[in-house]
Amino acid sequence: MQTQNLIGGRWVGADSGATFAVTDPATDEHVADVPKCGRAETARAIGAAQEAWGAWRSKTAAERGEAVRKLAELMVRDQERLAGLMTREQGKPLAEARGEIAYAASFLTWAAEEGRRLYGEMIPASFANKRLLVMRQPVGVCAIITPWNFPSAMITRKLGPALSCGCTVVIKPAEDTPLSALAIGELCGEAGIPAGVVNIVTGTPAEIGDELLSNPAVRKLSFTGSTQVGKLLMRKAADNVLRLSMELGGHAPFIVFDDADVEAAVAGAMATKFRNAGQTCICANRLYVQAGIYDEFVGRLTEAVSCLKVGRGTDEGVQVGPLINDAAVEKVEAHVADARERGADVLFGGQRAHVAGGADRFFQPTLLAGVTGEMRLSREETFGPVAPVRRFMEEAEAIAWANDSDFGLAAYAYTRDASRCFRVAEALEYGIVGMNDAAPSTAQAPFGGVKQSGIGREGGKYVMDEYTETKYVSWGVSGA
Ligand code: ADP
Repeated sequence: MQTQNLIGGRWVGADSGATFAVTDPATDEHVADVPKCGRAETARAIGAAQEAWGAWRSKTAAERGEAVRKLAELMVRDQERLAGLMTREQGKPLAEARGEIAYAASFLTWAAEEGRRLYGEMIPASFANKRLLVMRQPVGVCAIITPWNFPSAMITRKLGPALSCGCTVVIKPAEDTPLSALAIGELCGEAGIPAGVVNIVTGTPAEIGDELLSNPAVRKLSFTGSTQVGKLLMRKAADNVLRLSMELGGHAPFIVFDDADVEAAVAGAMATKFRNAGQTCICANRLYVQAGIYDEFVGRLTEAVSCLKVGRGTDEGVQVGPLINDAAVEKVEAHVADARERGADVLFGGQRAHVAGGADRFFQPTLLAGVTGEMRLSREETFGPVAPVRRFMEEAEAIAWANDSDFGLAAYAYTRDASRCFRVAEALEYGIVGMNDAAPSTAQAPFGGVKQSGIGREGGKYVMDEYTETKYVSWGVSGA
């Protein structure tokens, strides 16, 4: 297991020798100590990325794509090892961790191929003796700051396109899950990605962040995390007018209409609500169910929720692992307590779950009914295995509730009426709509939010715009 930081192709510790501990959220077992770096080490990482940039951007797209594709292959080769590491530091069930490694690799493969298609353009000029050219060039050194809920995929979703476009990077992974990031760093070397192109620094977030945002060599920040931290980083990024890609919080509505395929809707709700114990930014945070189908849907959902197996991610058949840390459990508890005080009924779960030999960090899959708009969980991201259900009468009412949010990342709707599909998809103020689909995220499609859910898109051809500058060359041609 790699526990040092990657700066300029060398594996190093913090200048002070300080470290911080990584623990298993399921058991509190100590997993490893990693460097507690600050500004000085970050500045060196940025320097290394800046130095490596010239040679990296001069390579052909095919050469860069080859290295990025190789990295994807190595991740798939090491899927079992990387998944085990992820489950230890993050807690998600092994099956989900394996899935995340494959998903993480898919972003690399996609970007490796897409890098060959960074086409320019020739625009018809207004004068016979001019030629107007548009070319796309790499942005430069990119700062990548990632969260703990998808420790590998949130890195590769940025790293793949950044490298393919010819950028170099400094990655700061989340404190809870640095090991998955360092493991990717190791594979970068094996994939033949030159020293300095990928740098990884772990440590004190504000110190590393301040250097990344104030060092003039950094040209861009790509961040995935909370809206609160995102806003803070945007303010700091203003001084250097950094380019920004921000994937922030969500608060996904999940709407089930009377004419829905109820079986598919229940399966979808289970998948989007309880994946990663409810800790994804596109998890359904509120379920709106139309009156005519309400009893059947809630009955079936209660049955499905009651069958979920809670436990350590390493144990066979576990579907819901621990929450990431104590603050996360306390937040989920507070949301459930607030909902109960305001009149919600607990149909299933509602409290911490006891797991033999486990830490006190598990929460029962929970189903709440009688939910209203004033409850905290109707407005704030819960980030836990809690499904609050609210009954609605009319389509317009559900749309109004869904859009009554500061967030706008993902929304879901289940209906068999094709006209309604279009009406609803168009009316939802969200960057992503899962229409009869609870798993919309995939490498070839644009992922991102509106409102306070962020700026920019990751995935698909769209992500390449985030890592390239558009340069215009106006060319005078004599004799034409
Ligand atoms: P989450 O709620 O998912 O933990 P956060 O927004 O708190 O999301 O964290 C996402 C990432 O932002 C993590 O890598 C974290 O270390 C980093 N981060 C938090 N605060 C700062 C900061 N002041 N400067 C730079 N990075 C930060």
